[in-house]
Amino acid sequence: MGRSIYYFNPKTLSFEKKAFSWKDIIKRVLWFLATALAFSVVIVWISFYLIDSPKELMLRQENEQLKEELSRLNKRYDQLATVAIDLQKRDDNIYRAIFESEPMPIAVRYPFLGTQKTASSNPSDASALLEEIYQKANRLTISMAAQSRSFDTIVSLIGKKKEMLQSIPAIRPLPNCYEISSGFGYRYHPILKVLRPHTGIDISAKKGTPVYATADGVVSRQTPGGGYGNVIVINHGYSYQTLYAHLSKKAVKPGERVTRGQVIGYVGNTGLSTGSHLHYEVIKDGVRVNPVHFFFQDITPEEYEAILKSSQRVNQALS
Ligand SMILES: [Zn+2]
Repeated sequence: MGRSIYYFNPKTLSFEKKAFSWKDIIKRVLWFLATALAFSVVIVWISFYLIDSPKELMLRQENEQLKEELSRLNKRYDQLATVAIDLQKRDDNIYRAIFESEPMPIAVRYPFLGTQKTASSNPSDASALLEEIYQKANRLTISMAAQSRSFDTIVSLIGKKKEMLQSIPAIRPLPNCYEISSGFGYRYHPILKVLRPHTGIDISAKKGTPVYATADGVVSRQTPGGGYGNVIVINHGYSYQTLYAHLSKKAVKPGERVTRGQVIGYVGNTGLSTGSHLHYEVIKDGVRVNPVHFFFQDITPEEYEAILKSSQRVNQALS
């Protein structure tokens, strides 16, 4: 025997007794459980997705902060890139211009050009932003490595320029004599008594006064004959030569390397000469030029003017 319940039958208009089987009970219990489960799933979903727990709230705030940090980092990177570009411009337009060198080729400076992806258009997308920063950092590293190599080139150019400046005549061969006895250009020859080109300058000085090399170079193995007497020619490279004539004594040998300011000989009166003096020549590309224009390192503008004036008098050369 099972339990029974009464229910109202609208057709007979009477309460009728109905058997209440175990199957019904189980069915109802299961139905109740299923409904409860479904309801609780809905509640859990709502609490999960719509209502933040304090921990979730914290994580969400942290995430927002990180995104902001990332965005700031991206801006800082852009500033850094601006500084780098300024450095490259200085390199090309100033440093390389000074040393007469071509700017670094663009393909060498920016090897990644044409391969870069377009920047993320959605700044709120953290992973895209991170990717963008990584890419930019890579590019900066590559172009800074190229910049570093460019500076190496400039350093070597500076070294060469220094060598060149050391090799161009720049001081007076007799530092304590400010008077040019006879200048460059047409002068009366003291012995031949005719007006003819004087290929250097004459500086009167006592016999034995030290004569200095006016730039770095190597003492030539070939010396011109004729009236020069005891003569030293120095090959400076960069198509410059200097000549020191009428010396009483030489202090250097042919083939010897000399530096600017080194004593190479002593003033004398040898060869075609009418008195103790130094005849000094500067030769550029095989052509004699006015040596007065190569006294710029050891004199003041006033001294230079005095020397220039005394060198312009058309008088008789000491030869
Ligand atoms: Zn002379």
